[in-house]
Amino acid sequence: MIQLHDKFFKPFISEKEIQQAVKRIADAVALDYKDQTPIFVGVLNGSFMFVADFLKAYQYPCEVSFVKLSSYHGLTSTGIVETLLDLPDNIGGRSVIILEDIIDTGRTLKELVHLFSNTNVKEFKIASLFYKSEVYNGEYAIDYFGLKIPDRFIVGYGLDYNELGRNLKEVYQLNQKHMINLVLFGKPGAGKGTQAEFLKEKYNLKHISTGDLFRYNMKNNTELGQLAKSYINKGDLVPDEVTIKMLQDDVEKNPDASGFIFDGFPRTTAQAKALDTFLTTKGMKIDATIALEANDEILIQRLLERGKVSGRADDQDEDKIRNRFDEYNQKTAPLKDFYEEQGKFHSVNGIGAIDEITMRLGKVIEEL
Ligand code: AMP
Repeated sequence: MIQLHDKFFKPFISEKEIQQAVKRIADAVALDYKDQTPIFVGVLNGSFMFVADFLKAYQYPCEVSFVKLSSYHGLTSTGIVETLLDLPDNIGGRSVIILEDIIDTGRTLKELVHLFSNTNVKEFKIASLFYKSEVYNGEYAIDYFGLKIPDRFIVGYGLDYNELGRNLKEVYQLNQKHMINLVLFGKPGAGKGTQAEFLKEKYNLKHISTGDLFRYNMKNNTELGQLAKSYINKGDLVPDEVTIKMLQDDVEKNPDASGFIFDGFPRTTAQAKALDTFLTTKGMKIDATIALEANDEILIQRLLERGKVSGRADDQDEDKIRNRFDEYNQKTAPLKDFYEEQGKFHSVNGIGAIDEITMRLGKVIEEL
């Protein structure tokens, strides 16, 4: 296993298999073109290794050139293909063979075909080392390919993940664990923290409580703690920028997690949107938001009881507790609609024995 930026990759295609595939393509192309002088056009950046090895395997007269296009950012094809380095201008009347490292959705290929359709080449063919036949839109024939591969994110042998990994001799695939990411939703005292402790064990998830993170920072008197304190002790929400940044840092500290339980976050629409955007950049998403429902009078009793042992200033005073409920009603409750629109909102009765409630939550999770 290797790590590139925040992700882990495991071996997928060996150097030997790659070299055999390159040779197969070179032999097939040679059969068709060895009596001409074709121009091989590599598509940068990803194809540089393939082009080099291909040319070593293709020992007949030929020329070589490059174009540069780009459509990937992070793990997904953005759909925007830019031409960064244009076609050579001596290609009129010639046979051109495009050398691609990988054919994926076909968007880059469409742009290439478009580039060549404005020229008077004799003919042009497409040779790709890797070919994701399951996702390719099939618009154009792939004349030569080395290996068909399933729709996995791969790096190595010229291919990158945010520019890292191009120099690997073999190809690696993203080590994609099946993640479950949950938001535990509900008013203060609803039992989110208590239930998260059980769920994290049961489903092997990392529990992130923004309230706990703030309290940890307050206890250690960090800059963040000092900043948060004045808000927390009144029962107000801490400003979004501060909270979002803190949450993102904590997710990034756990690149190996098989999923997260977000407890006490998001609490505003801005936080929920920021969370979605942030997770998308990591190839992750929220699978479900589960609300623990209980009425205010029960919650106030629970919080006052907890305040006697927790020492939390915001648990010991009924006015502060009511202020936290007001904050919740105004700023957090609208998130129910936000997640309902995404089809992710689930509601669970939060009153009863702790293990009964864990079972209710488990039922929702297992049906995901
Ligand atoms: P909790 O332990 O979740 O009840 O959080 C305690 C306090 O920490 C809240 O009353 C807020 O002042 C602050 N806090 C926790 N999470 C957030 C959040 N997502 N956004 C803003 N403030 C938060």
